[in-house]
Amino acid sequence: MLQKIVHYGLHFLAIGGIAYMYDKNNWRKYWLILLATMLIDLDHLWASPIFEPNRCSINFHFLHTYYAWVFYILGALFIRHRIAKLIFIGLSFHLLTDAIDCLWNFYG
Ligand SMILES: [Zn+2]
Repeated sequence: MLQKIVHYGLHFLAIGGIAYMYDKNNWRKYWLILLATMLIDLDHLWASPIFEPNRCSINFHFLHTYYAWVFYILGALFIRHRIAKLIFIGLSFHLLTDAIDCLWNFYG
C-alpha cells in the first residue's frame, strides 16, 4: 500500500514539483507536459499481459530499457529547447520512479 502511494505520488505529484522548479510562473503548463511523458507507458501495450502489478518494467518494455534511459538523460542534459528538455527530464524521472518500484519489489 505504501509502495503504491509512493509510486503514484512520485508519478503525479513530484513532477509537479519538478515543473515548479523549472518555471515558477508556468508550472501548470510544464506539469501537463510532464504528465504527458507518462505516455511512454504505452509501450506496455506490446507486452502480455499488458498490466501486471509486480512486474518490473525496467528492461522489460522497449521504452524502459537502460539504453532508452541513457538517451533520455543525454537529452535532458544537452538539449536546449525548453520543452524538449523538460520532456527528456520527465522521461528520465519516469524511469527512475519505475526503477524504485522494481527495487522495492525485489527487497521489500
Ligand atoms: Zn513506466
